[in-house]
Amino acid sequence: MNIALWLHQTSLLRPQAPAVRLGDALHATYGDYAARTRALARAFAASGVGPGDRVALFAKNDPDYLAVMHAALWIGAAIVPVNGKLHPVEAAWIVADSGARVAVTESGDLSALPEWPAECREIGLRSAEFAEAVAPGPQDAPAPPREAAGDDLAWLFYTSGTTGRPKGVMLTHANLRAMATTYALDVDPALPGDHPLYAAPMSHGAGLYNFQFMRVGACHVIPPGRGFDPAEIEALAASLGELVFFAAPTMIRRLVTHARSSGWRGEGVRTVIYGGGPMYLADLDEAVDLLGPRFVQIYGQGESPMTITVLPRDMVADRAHPRAAARRGSVGYAHGCVEVRVVDAALQDAPVDAPGEILVRGATVMKGYWNRPEATAETLAGGWLRTGDIGRLDAEGFLTLTDRSKDVIISGGTNIYPREVEEVLLAHPDVAEVSVIGVPNAEWGEDVLAFVVPHPGRPCAPEPLEAWCRARMAAFKRPKHWRFLDDLPKNAYGKVLKTELRDRSAP
Ligand code: AMP
Repeated sequence: MNIALWLHQTSLLRPQAPAVRLGDALHATYGDYAARTRALARAFAASGVGPGDRVALFAKNDPDYLAVMHAALWIGAAIVPVNGKLHPVEAAWIVADSGARVAVTESGDLSALPEWPAECREIGLRSAEFAEAVAPGPQDAPAPPREAAGDDLAWLFYTSGTTGRPKGVMLTHANLRAMATTYALDVDPALPGDHPLYAAPMSHGAGLYNFQFMRVGACHVIPPGRGFDPAEIEALAASLGELVFFAAPTMIRRLVTHARSSGWRGEGVRTVIYGGGPMYLADLDEAVDLLGPRFVQIYGQGESPMTITVLPRDMVADRAHPRAAARRGSVGYAHGCVEVRVVDAALQDAPVDAPGEILVRGATVMKGYWNRPEATAETLAGGWLRTGDIGRLDAEGFLTLTDRSKDVIISGGTNIYPREVEEVLLAHPDVAEVSVIGVPNAEWGEDVLAFVVPHPGRPCAPEPLEAWCRARMAAFKRPKHWRFLDDLPKNAYGKVLKTELRDRSAP
């Protein structure tokens, strides 16, 4: 089944229902949006795009973003969404790697770059050509999308690349269908009156989550600023209500800071789905206290998108449960379409509560990496996805992430999971953000180096932080070196770039 069938069906069932808004303003009803999508699909086909081809999309969040995606799917091609915050040269690299035949771009002038692949035709999202291509025209008829097999490529998802060159993760129509189905089963209901808000990049998790809302005929909302702006979110929550959005933990911190000064208590927001990086307990408590029980956690990766595990809102908010700290510090339990294991170095099941690599098998797991058979074979060895994340499973099935395997610091032969050290430091009142890495030590192998961002106006020094750590963690885990920064380096998705911190720590 072609996942674009959901938009088609909704356009027949609820043609007058609002489909997309830019802020409060209606951009298109479902009837109109499906017509725009079909028009664009015809334009892509006229440019030579056929089943099995790729169409890239390099743009900020936009009211026509989902139309471009669905137009590619409509004719049996796959979509390659590229984060609008990437450098044009990085985007051109992805366009070339994907072998896209057509690319829709924000600026329309990327094809002038030497890195741009000659065989890819560029269409500017703001151009007259695009405006003409999405205009339905007299020959439009509400025909369904082309049939697709479950195993056909639907979305080529370039991983955010916290290390090395990004790889294209092949997600099929069946992967996306399972992802959308398990959303309603495990994460949050998807309802016609919902306002899914695209405050995070649509090229990533926020955009992946459009499908279930297409299915039920909810109204997709693009914030006028095209990104994450807490004041804008508060205003849209007041005017539209039933907002549902995905946010990385760093965005939740910004939301909390805003709410503290504006007095807003989260009214109008039904659900904030957070994940993509560690959410520290101190931050979570603050968010729930201030904004209410509106938070659901997911843990996933491009290779098993949205998601692997889920921590539902009642468990996120429940601090009275006897195991509240363990549960709320976890990333939840396996969602309904996957199995999760934690294994030792020999790929044997680790004992309960013992850390090991997290493996996943099931309907949301990717087909493989685009044009990288060796990486695919390595990552999907034995039919299980090797996530590269380290975690432990408890007796109830809650999974707690400790780190990515490559981030583990080994000192004196003992593993130190950066997250544990970061949790402790982040609880210090002067610390706004922190990230720790390992640096070479001749005697011990590695020492912990902490990069600390102090709260504005509260300069930090090593001594009080050392005392804080001394009172809270084993000596071998305590940072031996400190660097104080105004900001941590982050990638386009807001993830801390430990690779860059490692480069900065080099002598
Ligand atoms: P990406 O493929 O870019 O979405 O990155 C996925 C990675 O982000 C995972 O492999 C984890 O290391 C991390 N991650 C995702 N969700 C969470 C979460 N809820 N808590 C902590 N780390 C997470």
